[in-house]
Amino acid sequence: MEPTLNQSRGQRRSVYIAYTGGTIGMRPGSRGYRPEPGFLADQMSRLPVFADARMPSYTVHEYAPLLDSSNMTPEDWVKIGEDIYDHYDRYDGFIVLHGTDTMAFSASALSFMLQRLGKPVIFTGSQIPFMELRTDARENLVTSLLLASQHPLPEVSLFVGSRLLRANRSTKVSANRFLAFDSPNYPPLGRAGVDLEIYHGRARSRPQGDIAFRPVRDARVADLRLFPGITVDILHRILDSPLQGLVLHTYGSGNAPDDPAFLDTLREACDRGMVIVNCTQCLEGSVDMWGYATGRALLDAGVVSGFDMTPEAALTKLYWLLSLDHPVEEVRRLMQESLRGELTRPQA
Ligand code: ASP
Repeated sequence: MEPTLNQSRGQRRSVYIAYTGGTIGMRPGSRGYRPEPGFLADQMSRLPVFADARMPSYTVHEYAPLLDSSNMTPEDWVKIGEDIYDHYDRYDGFIVLHGTDTMAFSASALSFMLQRLGKPVIFTGSQIPFMELRTDARENLVTSLLLASQHPLPEVSLFVGSRLLRANRSTKVSANRFLAFDSPNYPPLGRAGVDLEIYHGRARSRPQGDIAFRPVRDARVADLRLFPGITVDILHRILDSPLQGLVLHTYGSGNAPDDPAFLDTLREACDRGMVIVNCTQCLEGSVDMWGYATGRALLDAGVVSGFDMTPEAALTKLYWLLSLDHPVEEVRRLMQESLRGELTRPQA
């Protein structure tokens, strides 16, 4: 058997587990599954695999309250980021146990807030609780512990099912399959089959300098999906509010109705300083605002391209950039740059 990094270095590597909630540690109650304090750590301590010498040593920090991730807010992203930052020097890697429903948002937010990250931060969870007979929880957690300790990629990633994905490229695509996430515009960073395959060339390179934590604050951001029949009045009501940023989910390669009144409403909001980002409703592919007249009209109104960002990456990036007190033009520019590998710009 191959020696693990633990053994070859003669000391066990250590992993910090931030347990925020989610199905993974839930147990059935009268009103359905709910998280229960102490339950997951107790279940883990009963399984010999977690004490195996080839596994890293680990510390579980259970949050109070444990949350179903549908209840997560940007304040929770900050809490998780602060927790990792505070323990950064003492551990080799980090796992965030999190509900899968909003995992892609939290994981994307962390990728922006933790600057110059040099250690792995892996989000994982499960579709079936750890205590059930048939479950994806044990596999996801064991593999994440091995990945965080033996194959440390210096970025925020997500492991659910059998693939290690860049966090800010991933999105939840299934409510019931074990392979619940996909990363349609960036290939996986690793795969767990018979062997753990890690594709180092796809990962971020190790940063120069020390880690820094720059949290999101209370930016006013929203998300709007266009639909056939959306009226200027609806758009006006949404934009005529004290919003600073909006992710606009457009059709295809970044198209929206080119009704002049619709475009004027967008232009007025941009002129007032709102940052409106054009993201496609399609799961795969990129916005190209130069391709069609309907896309070009958005550009002329002041909307910026989100290229191939996931809606989760676009929203959390907007939150984060608007928290940093940059001038609006700088936020618009940075939304179109890759800061953590979250987007690919087409070659000029
Ligand atoms: N509702 C759960 C959550 O997101 C679902 C899950 O963990 O998979 O917390």
